[in-house]
Amino acid sequence: MAQQYVGRFAPSPTGPLHAGSLVAAVASYLDARANAGRWLLRIEDVDEARTVKGADEAIIALLARLGMRWDGEIVWQSRRKDLYQRAADQLAMQLYPCGCNRREIADSRLGIAPDGSAIYPGTCRYGLHDGKVMRSLRVRVPEAPYDVIDFEDRIAGHMVQRLASESGDFVLKRADGFWAYQLAVVVDDAEQGVTDVVRGADLIDSTPRQIFLQRLLGVPTPRYMHVPVVRNEGGEKLSKQTGAAALAADSEAAALALLGQSMAFLGFPAVQADTLPAFWERAAALWGQRYPLPIS
Ligand code: GLU
Repeated sequence: MAQQYVGRFAPSPTGPLHAGSLVAAVASYLDARANAGRWLLRIEDVDEARTVKGADEAIIALLARLGMRWDGEIVWQSRRKDLYQRAADQLAMQLYPCGCNRREIADSRLGIAPDGSAIYPGTCRYGLHDGKVMRSLRVRVPEAPYDVIDFEDRIAGHMVQRLASESGDFVLKRADGFWAYQLAVVVDDAEQGVTDVVRGADLIDSTPRQIFLQRLLGVPTPRYMHVPVVRNEGGEKLSKQTGAAALAADSEAAALALLGQSMAFLGFPAVQADTLPAFWERAAALWGQRYPLPIS
């Protein structure tokens, strides 16, 4: 029998939900519903420096007003640090302290990884140089040609990344003491039994690093589906920094209008529904027709 589908929506509470994060929420919810799966809600507040007080509650309240029902308890990454520490302990042989600051890494001119971070030249790989103190903790990636990670994305198809040249050794514990998103997301998806990750395409370049960590930790790799990202007129991904408007759904009609916009963005025809339950039922049927699960 096929394994039960477990999906999740994992917003970072750096501000209220906006049109971009709503698209990721809707896509992951519809995929879970279309597959009679569970849908988990995880607040990714691992980056406490960027967490905005009250944003988590606002996100949760809006999802509820949109008629989205999550399964089980909501989890907060800031309350799960012992799990990340345990995973780092398990990876200890692959990790090393790094004393470089941002400018030193940028100066190395190895280039920029697809996700915009500077590629680390490996300066501290074989030990900290004199006078350097540990700032962050990095994981060592294999050298070419053993560094190739590939996966099938349900929309983008076959994806290949060479970790050594396209990422370099990456940070698992940051200089400010917080665990990195890449570690937290892998630990949580595994611990929560997530089988299907449906999220914005801005994270597709992070996926090979996450698969690499899954293999080091000996946990399964979920299926991945990266949906298009909403951009503003200047071509920037919507975020609080780019001035994305917060969404409100004070009535069922307003909620349906918001959901209609997300569906249109995802390329679906208008869903005829006067109530939220009717909307979700029809939308999930449309979604399931367009995106059946691949036979694995
Ligand atoms: N917390 C991330 C975000 O809000 C999403 C992470 C994920 O879905 O893996 O952009």
